[in-house]
Amino acid sequence: MAEKRDYYEVLGVSRNATLDEIKKAYRDLALKYHPDRNPGNKEAEEKFKEVTEAYEVLSDPEKRRTYDQFGHAGFGPQGFDWRQDFGRVRMDFSDIFGDFFSDFFSDIFGPQDVVRENRGEDVEMRISIPLREAVNGTERTINVSVYEKCSVCDGTGSRTKRTPIECLQCHGTGKVVYQQGFISIGQTCPRCKGQGTVITDPCVNCHGSGRVRVMHKIKVKIPAGIESGTSLRLRGMGNAGPRSGARGDLYVTVFVEEDEFFKRKGADLYCEVPITVTTAVLGGEIEIPTLSGKVRARVSPGTQDGTILRLRNLGVPKGSTKGSLFAVLRVVLPKTMSREERRLWEQLKAIENEKNYPEIAKFRSKL
Ligand SMILES: [Zn+2]
Ligand SMILES: [Zn+2]
Repeated sequence: MAEKRDYYEVLGVSRNATLDEIKKAYRDLALKYHPDRNPGNKEAEEKFKEVTEAYEVLSDPEKRRTYDQFGHAGFGPQGFDWRQDFGRVRMDFSDIFGDFFSDFFSDIFGPQDVVRENRGEDVEMRISIPLREAVNGTERTINVSVYEKCSVCDGTGSRTKRTPIECLQCHGTGKVVYQQGFISIGQTCPRCKGQGTVITDPCVNCHGSGRVRVMHKIKVKIPAGIESGTSLRLRGMGNAGPRSGARGDLYVTVFVEEDEFFKRKGADLYCEVPITVTTAVLGGEIEIPTLSGKVRARVSPGTQDGTILRLRNLGVPKGSTKGSLFAVLRVVLPKTMSREERRLWEQLKAIENEKNYPEIAKFRSKL
């Protein structure tokens, strides 16, 4: 997959743009790249998809927050998948443009809801786990509320399990067309809610939908080395479809919490380790935290602030290998001291030679 561009850049707005600014930017770009205005132009079509996707995310406060915090990774390894609910953008779109353009969405974005009307919806859950568990892999039991087939009517939605009859309002098409002046507007049929059929004796347990909400406990295995924002797909664990339709999927998006010691970069971990000035000067042993307990390491005499020690194979698993742990050494100074210490520091200062400090020597030569 090609590297995705920054959504703000795509729409040409600043990171703190208001919703109105985002709407306006999208409107201008969508007009420019709209397939109706650029027939047969593949590049314009790609641009149109790109701006629509950016708009889909940035015009939704929750998605925008996710994007601001985690970038494209916030929507899983493949980035944002607009297929999930671009129906909202589609509505926004007709709101912005009215009937000016043809309904091209299914042409260029591929078929969606219409063909899988009876399939249950996908369900998304978000969980966050500590870095240590993300590195080593873990298991979580989550509670998910999903639709299940109604057991009273066996998913038919009918009290007597009768087959539904054709909807009289839309004649089975699921759509009705209103005439407003010379504009005709297509809408989902309000009577059958787009199903094309109606149930005349709805089941009292599920009110004719053929499904009821049930709380499930689901065990999710989280693989070792998972990246923050990864969506795990549990096939067929989403909502049961209305009237015995196929099941949707469950997506569990895993966010990795910040750790008090470690910052992660790919398979490597970074950790700051403070050391005393005497250890830095004279050398010595120090303790370094790792994800599996402390390890000891030697520091050589004359170690400078910011020196990085690399500890191989103590990072995050990646395939059959493991990344490294980088310990960034911070030389720290005493804030208080005993009389004895002070006396020794004073003696040291009296005989101190700046020539022994390469950084200072370099600085002096430039002065
Ligand atoms: Zn029922
Ligand atoms: Zn109908």
